Amino acid sequence: MVERFTGSFTQQEPIPEAAIEAALAVMRHGRLHRYNTAPGEAGEVALLEEEFAAFTGAHYCLALASGGVAITTGLRAVGVRPGDPVLTNAFTLAPVPGAIAAVGARPVFVEVTGDLVIDLEDLAEKGAQAKVLLLSHMRGHMVDMDRLMEVAEAAGLTVIEDCAHTMGGSWGGVPSGRHGAMACYSTQTYKHMNSGEGGLLTSDDDEAMARAILLSGSYMLYERHRARPPAEAFRRLRAEVPNISGRMDNLRAAILRPQLAALPAQVARWNRLYGEMEAGLASTPGLRLIPRAEAEGYVGSSFQFQLDGWRGEACADLVARCAARGVELKWFGAEEAVGFTSRYVHWGYAAPPQLPKTDAALSGLVDLRLPLTFSREDVATIARIIRAEVGALYQQGAA
Ligand SMILES: *Cc1c(COP(=O)(O)O)cnc(C)c1O
Repeated sequence: MVERFTGSFTQQEPIPEAAIEAALAVMRHGRLHRYNTAPGEAGEVALLEEEFAAFTGAHYCLALASGGVAITTGLRAVGVRPGDPVLTNAFTLAPVPGAIAAVGARPVFVEVTGDLVIDLEDLAEKGAQAKVLLLSHMRGHMVDMDRLMEVAEAAGLTVIEDCAHTMGGSWGGVPSGRHGAMACYSTQTYKHMNSGEGGLLTSDDDEAMARAILLSGSYMLYERHRARPPAEAFRRLRAEVPNISGRMDNLRAAILRPQLAALPAQVARWNRLYGEMEAGLASTPGLRLIPRAEAEGYVGSSFQFQLDGWRGEACADLVARCAARGVELKWFGAEEAVGFTSRYVHWGYAAPPQLPKTDAALSGLVDLRLPLTFSREDVATIARIIRAEVGALYQQGAA
């Protein structure tokens, strides 16, 4: 009999009981707005910010309505103005160039390598074209961050990190998000902590974070924040920075605080699933695994592999054949954007240039989710199915 997988690729774990209790408490007292606090009460949002800052080692943290809002707030906070070019790696998720467009700026795409990280040579070449690099650690793949920071410094670039897929990860022991001037995280359902929607922004920079807090819609109540710059940092800015509402509420923060405490254990669980998939797919003819650097403390919440040199038709066949056996794969080489899977050519507003290296990197790129509702046996089953189907198509001359 043909083996089939019957689990769901999009089913998250339930919200932990402690988080449900905390959410109920917020609903019972009714003070959902972050600035609606009882005397002496910090509020869940301010506490989450303080705890997330401590978790990453950042001086300051601001909680926002979404990861996308964290990015737009970060871009504005470092001084990006309408019309400005902003560099970003061409392999990322649609809300990243979307955030650049949202502030009226212009995405300038930098090539990515076949290992799915920004191409540092192309970055060095394009560095002079912009003042800001929005670096997206897409699917959790981290470039050599020490070299990246050297290239960025030489080009005079301010780096904002999009850590939607590296929350809980690190490079050379330094938590992801601690290399650039600011870092953005998402707590949307499909990321590493789940509040439905939500975002976090971290920084050590007094002025940028004071701007960000004012931008987030702090009404002049910024002194109630705990992970914030000193009050002097706000004094000059408070009259000139617009209040663009994008705050997080106490209900979401209440759900997130227990999840943050559990994050390191969750990361370990993801990496066990990742290791199982890597072992299951190792040395499959026609399939190339993405190497992970020694220094890369990744979070294996999703898995990617390359079908180097495969014809588009054969890639589409693989997706269809695996789907028929219950395995949901996403292919980044498709003509049309499907669901969450789009690539730079689909972002017409950005007037995308031709990026031959990125085209080569994405034409055979296959991606799958590893939700924590999978067991290691589930992952082993999925790997066997992929291995069998890749093997069959490769033998028939897929490449
Ligand atoms: C999800 C995601 C975002 C945006 O987060 P939202 O909370 O959905 O706005 C940004 N970058 C990447 C790489 C993402 O996956």
